[in-house]
Amino acid sequence: MPGNEALSGKTKILCVIGDPIEHTMSPAMHNAAIKALGLDLVYVAFHVKPDVLKQAIEGFRALGIAGINVTIPHKVAAMQWLDEVDPVAKAIGAINTIKNEGGKLVGRNTDADGAARAMKAAGVALKGAKAAMLGAGGAARAVGFALAREGAVVTIVYRKEDASMAVDLARDIKGIFPSAPIGTLLMDKAGIEKACRDSTILVNATPIGMHPRSDETLVDPKLLHGRLCVFDVVYNPLETRLVKDARKAGCKVVLGIDMLVYQGAMALEWWTGKEPPVDIMKRAALDRLGLK
Ligand code: NAP
Repeated sequence: MPGNEALSGKTKILCVIGDPIEHTMSPAMHNAAIKALGLDLVYVAFHVKPDVLKQAIEGFRALGIAGINVTIPHKVAAMQWLDEVDPVAKAIGAINTIKNEGGKLVGRNTDADGAARAMKAAGVALKGAKAAMLGAGGAARAVGFALAREGAVVTIVYRKEDASMAVDLARDIKGIFPSAPIGTLLMDKAGIEKACRDSTILVNATPIGMHPRSDETLVDPKLLHGRLCVFDVVYNPLETRLVKDARKAGCKVVLGIDMLVYQGAMALEWWTGKEPPVDIMKRAALDRLGLK
């Protein structure tokens, strides 16, 4: 974090908005990167309630805020007040990053790119891989698009109440990648067994395993096998029960923290045109989680 004396009349502002926002790791991650790159920027968090989201976005335009990360619950609603939204973000149905291009606010979704980068960095082969994804919510939409774009065969494993969310997600992915092989499967005992048996990638895109219920998992450890790569989008705790079980079963693992760091790194790269110091951003995020 730059000291106050480093700020000047030329310093540009980056920020994250959300409700709540107190626990965000983004300021720590981005300010560490800004310092390492020697940029005249500062990254702050704003607590924005849904009823003033429109005014907040108008404020960013008026104040010349250079870049904005958007988190829950604004990822969908914010899109309607932007000047342009990238087609993939439109199809995902959510943005997580806005760039102010001289007064024009452009929205993008770097969660999908972040997921793909995290899997590639862990050495996971995606083209032609059979991937089963538990969940059909916001994170699943980003990961599903990433998997389809990278050429994986995707099965969305949904809980009963989410059937229409899973069908809509499959349809939206097909809308952008028409030849992508996408299927859906009910998340009952047999469905999870089939997903594990038939796949080489298993993604948990549900909040199951998240702090404080960190001993929960949707997957019986007996179903995990060494040919499976397990990607858990949950990043708090750093290693969920599913990840721990996967390690014991000899699976390759991809951690949610890596998706989080890469989505941030890709936002910073888009805003600044500079190559982000991913390792420094990850260390700052771990430090913020009290895990350094
Ligand atoms: P979301 O939009 O609410 O979606 C959650 C999905 O999980 C929904 O399909 C939901 O079904 C399903 N689900 C919830 N409880 C379940 C249960 N007991 N059994 C089976 N399925 C269940 O949430 P989200 O935004 O996708 O977030 C999910 C997790 O991803 C959170 O832990 C979040 O912190 C994490 N995340 C991580 C990153 C990253 O960068 N690593 C990015 C975004 C999110 P219903 O709709 O029926 O509830």
